Amino acid sequence: MSEHIHAHEKLTKNQTLVMDALANADGPLSAYTILDQLRGNGFRAPLQVYRALDKLLDSGLVHRLESLNAFVACRHDDCTDHEQTVFMICETCGKVSEIADKALTQHLQKMASASQFSLTKATIELRGRCKACKTV
Ligand SMILES: [Zn+2]
Ligand SMILES: [Zn+2]
Repeated sequence: MSEHIHAHEKLTKNQTLVMDALANADGPLSAYTILDQLRGNGFRAPLQVYRALDKLLDSGLVHRLESLNAFVACRHDDCTDHEQTVFMICETCGKVSEIADKALTQHLQKMASASQFSLTKATIELRGRCKACKTV
């Protein structure tokens, strides 16, 4: 995935393999699915996948979907501001799209600071049906 080439330079072999698995996937993958895909590449234990994922999550290349307990590669070109992320999850086909909304981000920060809460991260997961599934 061309947009992640620069980030790849700093990744270890295992991190790159996990990143590629996620970048080439159509939807979110669980750690165990990643492990299954990478068994031929020397991955033996879930811990190896989790270690790689930790680093990828840290660097914002990958996002965790709490409600699915799964991971997706970031599809944004601009990976620098990722504290607030919104995902739309199709309950019919499993497609996940990531959207960024500045107004929403600002609103969340306003809400949080009104309660003197210091917001570090927000992941919002919207569930429903994607355009393709809605029109079937
Ligand atoms: Zn992202
Ligand atoms: Zn769908």
